[in-house]
Parts: sequence; structure tokens; C-alpha cells
Amino acid sequence: MKDSRFETSFDVVRWLESEAAGLWPALLGSLSFRRSPCVRENCPACRSGEQHPSYVLYGRQKGRRVAVYVPEELVPEVQRGLDNGRALQELLQQAAPRYVKALKRERTEARKNRKS
Ligand SMILES: [Zn+2]
Repeated sequence: MKDSRFETSFDVVRWLESEAAGLWPALLGSLSFRRSPCVRENCPACRSGEQHPSYVLYGRQKGRRVAVYVPEELVPEVQRGLDNGRALQELLQQAAPRYVKALKRERTEARKNRKS
């Protein structure tokens, strides 16, 4: 990686693109685990108190909270997407100050060149 003190805004964009390339699908939301009873009578799992484990993804659509049931075999894939989402958010956080610093350096350079 180039020394961030000398990078240009274009370098920051290139860095962001290459880092983000491996982060798809990137998802935001939260996956939660719960146990709930079923409707069957005399269900052994419910009687033992074990109940039935299930996963639910909580997300937002147009500002409204939505809950989607996630079958157990899809949990690792969904979890990977959520991990990517967090990594992408972290990346965008890092990008903001670097990009602004690069823009300011470019502005200073442009001024110097105009004067000389
Ligand atoms: Zn049951």
C-alpha cells in the first residue's frame, strides 16, 4: 500500500474499489437465534423444553423493520454476508478521512502550481 500521506484521491478510490471487491455480498442487518414452541400436540422437543431452534434475520426495507426466517443451512452464507457488510462499513469509515485529506493536498498543490 502506498504511504497514505502521499496518496491522491484517485489512489483512495482505487484502494477502496480493490478492498471492497472481495466483500460481496455485503449485507446489513442482524441475525438472531431463538427457540420457539411449535403447534404439534405432545411434541417431544417442546415437552422437554428444548423447543425448536430457528434463525431470523432482522433488516430494514424503506425504513420499516422486517424479519425473515433463515433456514439453518443458509445461516453460514447469511453470516458471511453480514460480516462483509460490517467490513465494508469499516472500510468506508477509513476511506472518508483519507479521501478528504487527499482532496485537500490536491487543492494545496493546485494553488502552488497556479502561483509559480
Ligand atoms: Zn415442538
